[in-house]
Amino acid sequence: MINATHDPGLRSWVESAHAEATDFPIQNLPLGVFRLRHRHRDRWRVGVAIGSQVLDCAAADSLGVLPGVWDGLFGSSLNALMAEPPERWSALRAAVSSTLRSDTAIGRQAAAHAAEILVPQEDVQLRVPADVGDYTDFYASLAHATNVGSMFRPDQPLLPNYKWIPIAYHGRASSIVPSGTGLRRPAGQAGGEPAVPPVVGATRRLDYEAELGLWIGGGNALGTPIPVGAAGRVLFGACLLNDWSARDIQAWEYQPLGPFLGKNFASTVSPWVVTWEALAPFRAPACVRDAGDPAPLPYLTDDADQQGGALDIRIDVFLQSATMRDQGIPPFRLSSGRTADLYWTPAQMVAHHTMGGCNLRPGDLLGTGTVSGPSRESRGCLLELTWRGTEPLRLPSGEERRFLEDGDEVVMRARCEREGYRSIGFGDCTGTILPAVP
Ligand code: CA
Repeated sequence: MINATHDPGLRSWVESAHAEATDFPIQNLPLGVFRLRHRHRDRWRVGVAIGSQVLDCAAADSLGVLPGVWDGLFGSSLNALMAEPPERWSALRAAVSSTLRSDTAIGRQAAAHAAEILVPQEDVQLRVPADVGDYTDFYASLAHATNVGSMFRPDQPLLPNYKWIPIAYHGRASSIVPSGTGLRRPAGQAGGEPAVPPVVGATRRLDYEAELGLWIGGGNALGTPIPVGAAGRVLFGACLLNDWSARDIQAWEYQPLGPFLGKNFASTVSPWVVTWEALAPFRAPACVRDAGDPAPLPYLTDDADQQGGALDIRIDVFLQSATMRDQGIPPFRLSSGRTADLYWTPAQMVAHHTMGGCNLRPGDLLGTGTVSGPSRESRGCLLELTWRGTEPLRLPSGEERRFLEDGDEVVMRARCEREGYRSIGFGDCTGTILPAVP
């Protein structure tokens, strides 16, 4: 629902919130968990990004400049808040908005306490914002599934179930890391040559996947499906997700049970959760299916979801090699994709995930799968961009890339833009490749 918190005319007493390029104007108000970088063993606590600053929610609450009663919700993760009903999430957003506005009485009081309730983002460390119990990765981009399928199965790029089922696998929660975490090149088995044993060693085909992460709030009791029309009540917010992938390991191991070591070594999230409510102006119709495609089955069909259940978010991916860093060359944009191209909506993913009674819990994370579109520049991973390494990319430094090299930094950024609304962003989702363990 669009309400007063989305008003593009809102002004904040935090000046940096008005910078044209900021991801965090007062219309965004993403939630995260931070601590001071330089204070030994500082405690983790909930904050809201505003311009170049972080609002310390507990500090604002204790000084009486955050309206409402929020006992116990501003601890070391967002799980307690995620466990509350959506009406409470919305009430908190309204309260934070009034605290940060320059034209409210509470905002004027808050501004007088700026030194006690604001911390510069450059002084904080951010963690994965929730304790993730379970992580599931979908495969919702038709273009991605078709491209990847055509490399491995030229005769049948798209398997017959794809247009009926939102395909996914259960991923690994323990290796989810926040943006900025270095990534050790993983080892594994790679094989597949007839009559030749597999080789064991560091992956030679390390890749990223640009995805949207969906944070779950509330949830469902075991045995109780969430209907597609009610899925909005468990969608707490979104982040960027880099589903790092070792393609040689993946290709050898994925049959018959799907990804394992090719995916479980790390997944990086952007640490700010852009709430579902903040994304309201950027909803879009579900993707238009080709004339010959089946309609979604009834349990995946809801009129409101078809009309506005998708999201229109642009995700850009940049790469900066060690050489580029040394030469002062800025990160080079590899691709730009849109989540509106996904074949399945978030609500369809939730409805399918739970139709057999599987319970979602606060802090669960769903990945959409690589966000790729029909155009070449919208391909969300190197596997597609270099066509399995057969069409190398050239970087501004003159280097070539088929897959990631040690020292490469992958940077993902996302932006929501719509006429009549303030643009919002997600903050960076970055990771640098470290050499394999010898
Ligand atoms: Ca993936």
